[in-house]
Amino acid sequence: EQEVAEYRNTLAIRVSGFDVPRPVKTFEDCGFSAQLMGAITKQGYENPTPIQRQAFPIVLSGRDIIGIAKTGSGKTAAFVLPMIVHIMDQPELQKEEGPIGVICAPTRELAHQIYLEAKKFAKPYGLRVSAVYGGMSKLEQFKELKAGCEIVVATPGRLIDMIKMKAVNMSRGTCLVLDEADRMFDLGFEPQIRSIVGQIRPDRQTLLFSATMPYKVEKLAREILSDPVRVTVGEVG
Ligand code: ADP
Ligand code: MG
Repeated sequence: EQEVAEYRNTLAIRVSGFDVPRPVKTFEDCGFSAQLMGAITKQGYENPTPIQRQAFPIVLSGRDIIGIAKTGSGKTAAFVLPMIVHIMDQPELQKEEGPIGVICAPTRELAHQIYLEAKKFAKPYGLRVSAVYGGMSKLEQFKELKAGCEIVVATPGRLIDMIKMKAVNMSRGTCLVLDEADRMFDLGFEPQIRSIVGQIRPDRQTLLFSATMPYKVEKLAREILSDPVRVTVGEVG
């Protein structure tokens, strides 16, 4: 009885790919720095969520990932924390301009939420996060990007505008996140996403998160990710 009840409350986790790193149980298992651990504690996060337990070691090892999990499962920290480690690992951080981490999200509300979370974790390192989305003055965004940043959080259309205006140099980008990829496709952003991908270094790490994987998203994932690990977290009925 007890066992059955517990099973019903467990999340079904499916992982596929070559040489998948083992999941972590705690934030300490990730080897995060004292600064990052401080920011995690300050957020009130005690333990990683199921998608984070799987995603942290995969992304920290430099692998591409397809993460499929519903809203509210903690996907933002699953990519933001390893992205900060990735950025701090880059040699000669100061020598060039342009974001190292590029995060695309479907709407300004989502981009803004990610921006706020990224800022909290970037703060202890003094990393600069810029938000780029519609509804804000293009001139203000142009100036902010010109001033420099290590992470940019953007809706695809506005990021393309900024690239065209030469506000931002994408050639330093080595970690690309496509968040809520299915919704970006629903909103017609496929051409903009492809254009952004084409401007970021081919040796980048690519992280794709989605609640669902329709054929078009699957096809893009096959084209732009290399040897990804696929993690699906879903409830067992
Ligand atoms: P998703 O992108 O999967 O919809 P979010 O990243 O927006 O989910 O996270 C949902 C909520 O869970 C947010 O309020 C976030 O601050 C919180 N959260 C994320 N990770 C943890 C954690 N490890 N422990 C507790 N709360 C967390
Ligand atoms: Mg999210």
